[in-house]
Amino acid sequence: MNNNRAEMQVKLIDYASTPLEKLYAAFRTCYSSDSPIEIWDKIKAEKISHERVREFIGERLKTGHASPLEQIVFWFAIAGVSRSLSHQFVRHRIGISFEQQSQRYVKFKQERLAFVMPESWRRAGLEEEFAGLLERTSELYGRALKAVVPGGSSTPVLKSDEIDIAMDFDSVAKAGSMLGSGGVVVLDDTTCMVKFALRTMKFYQHESCGWCIPCREGTDWLKKTLIRFHSGGGVNKDIDNMYYLSENMLGRTFCPLGDAATSLVTSGIRLFREEFEYHVKHGHCMVGGMHAHPEIESAREATLKAGV
Ligand code: SF4
Repeated sequence: MNNNRAEMQVKLIDYASTPLEKLYAAFRTCYSSDSPIEIWDKIKAEKISHERVREFIGERLKTGHASPLEQIVFWFAIAGVSRSLSHQFVRHRIGISFEQQSQRYVKFKQERLAFVMPESWRRAGLEEEFAGLLERTSELYGRALKAVVPGGSSTPVLKSDEIDIAMDFDSVAKAGSMLGSGGVVVLDDTTCMVKFALRTMKFYQHESCGWCIPCREGTDWLKKTLIRFHSGGGVNKDIDNMYYLSENMLGRTFCPLGDAATSLVTSGIRLFREEFEYHVKHGHCMVGGMHAHPEIESAREATLKAGV
């Protein structure tokens, strides 16, 4: 064995148990009038094989029913892994990677994030260098940051200059949004806000159960309009129409899904209207390099000629 190599004593502390079985239970709940607990008990009594569980999930996914996947969390906790290796695990997820660093080097103080100087850097007389590096890193993150959705897709987006706030209910509400589910979405400067609104609307339209008209028709109309609009077939009055329709869905649906669907359309248009107008004028995204397909381009020209 190479003596230069230190052996790691990795220990598994905890892990998500039976995640596939829980996903299977989530799918079965969708197709049953039994409560999730009753279903879970049934599954345990039926002693269904792991292969059958995988097969069932595969069949459901093939039909396009993927929403239960959002409820499932696969996680594990390990100790003894070097920091560089754990970064390898998460390097493709900048949010997690950044979180690891920030927990190590920052502390929460007087509603502001203040740097904590590592003792080793202080001993080495590198305080200034360390502070300079963190300042530069913050500046670079700040430059790449375009906007943040602070509480999941049902909450209004905030611009990068609005998010230097504490992540608590009052502060986020004062800034004009909500903490909602706490599912923070960070958008960099390559994100087209029209495309972002479209992606979210596709989700809500798919999830709408169709029971009440404002949600059923509203999400469908918004999705279709955003598809045409994003592809370059939009006209100026679409912008106000989308805003107006979204505002009118608010508070008029049976469950909160209808309200939730409108947030990123209204806040997106309010804060990034120039991107919507750019789409009308140029037929493609202002950022992100999305250009319309030639066929879509000619459909757009026909739309404009017809004055629709
Ligand atoms: S608002 Fe709720 S109840 Fe109404 S159609 Fe949408 S999902 Fe169904």
